[in-house]
Amino acid sequence: MAKPLIVARDLSIIYNQGKSNEFKALSDVNTDIFEGEYIILFGPSGCGKSTLMYSIQGSLPPGEGTLLVKGDDVYSYPPAERVYFQRHVMGIIFQQFNLIMSLSVLDNVALPQIFCNGDKQKRERRAQSLLDRFGVGHVSHKLPAMLSGGQQQRVSVSRSMVNDPKILLADEPTGNLDSVSTQQVMDKIDEINTFDRRTIIMVSHNAAHLSYAHRVYYLKDGYVLREVVNPQRKQIKPVREGETIVTELEQLARLYPYDSVETWRVKSMVNYLTQDYTFNQINRIERAISLFLQGKVDRHAMVKALVLPYERGGAEVKEKEARRMASVSARMVDHSTDIKRFRARKDNDNIFFTQHKLAERMSDHLSHEYRIKLSKDQRENMTEMIADRVTGVATDVEMNIRLMRGIRTGGLGLSESEADNITRHFEKIIAQGVDVSYKKE
Ligand code: ADP
Repeated sequence: MAKPLIVARDLSIIYNQGKSNEFKALSDVNTDIFEGEYIILFGPSGCGKSTLMYSIQGSLPPGEGTLLVKGDDVYSYPPAERVYFQRHVMGIIFQQFNLIMSLSVLDNVALPQIFCNGDKQKRERRAQSLLDRFGVGHVSHKLPAMLSGGQQQRVSVSRSMVNDPKILLADEPTGNLDSVSTQQVMDKIDEINTFDRRTIIMVSHNAAHLSYAHRVYYLKDGYVLREVVNPQRKQIKPVREGETIVTELEQLARLYPYDSVETWRVKSMVNYLTQDYTFNQINRIERAISLFLQGKVDRHAMVKALVLPYERGGAEVKEKEARRMASVSARMVDHSTDIKRFRARKDNDNIFFTQHKLAERMSDHLSHEYRIKLSKDQRENMTEMIADRVTGVATDVEMNIRLMRGIRTGGLGLSESEADNITRHFEKIIAQGVDVSYKKE
């Protein structure tokens, strides 16, 4: 298995250590970043994103814990080697561009090569070709002040690539740009990742950027709160079994990164149960379901809270509907325990037998729920499909297609609407039963 390029273990960074204004800006950070990954460090201002990035860059030594790049502790390098590392292994782009205003655009880009490439012509040729590539070759003779912000940033992208670094660091690179320039710069960085296969580590607090990354580390108050995999990008980091599943919970995790797993479960369930209610009613329904999912109230108390008139703190749902909601929720929670057990049994010796039984039971639940009578072959296919879905071997879409496929080719031969209903229902059960845990091993 490939080794990570950058490893942080229990990393803490402390500013002004030992002084009266000592400040711990990062605590117990654990990250594994693999070669070729596009990683975003995301979070509100002051949460420690830049601190983490500059510690990877070799400028902020760990107060506690370790930080390894390519297996080396760069802070143990002698000074000359550290400078070499910062110049050749890392490239960097800043929010404020950091161009030297008295030098031409071309000289700005060629400058980092002065220390390693004696031939001026060669340096300038390389700088010009990068400027051309990033769409600012025609202004290479100008001073930076004559360029727009977007152009200046593309000059600094060119400069960051001039020594052909393995890793590109970007500190809020579009923080000072308008939306058109932002798009251009983001596209160039994306190209450096996908075409040049460079590892990207970007600091951002712009949620619109998250879809570019393979993975996002969400930081808050100096901690890595959560690591979220982008299901739209093929992953480079080996994904451990149990994390392969792409569920609605993971989608909710991306939409509401700072909410708890419990809150996502509530949202998932409420989204399923409500169609024609006002937002006020939905809030009340959420509250009732939240109490029920936490086990603080039972089914009957939940029905009561749902039917109570709005002025009296209820959700004003019709009694029949409230009963349906309670019974669907209760059944789903009940069935989701089988999912939990299925996934917990992974390491048992008896694994095959027990998992098969559990998958059979889930299959029975579903066919019962939708009043579908299954033949022996259909039941076997369904059991296999369920096992594949719960272990994450199959995606929800693959399961849906398989439900419609003929029985002889491993399917169930269901109609599209039957397949859709079962898939949707089963995803809800999975959402209640699967833990989205990105905690360290
Ligand atoms: P972010 O990049 O998420 O906005 P930073 O990593 O820049 O956050 O800062 C994290 C915390 O560390 C902040 O509270 C900031 O005030 C503090 N901090 C940053 N740099 C220094 C420094 N040189 N000395 C003392 N505190 C600092």
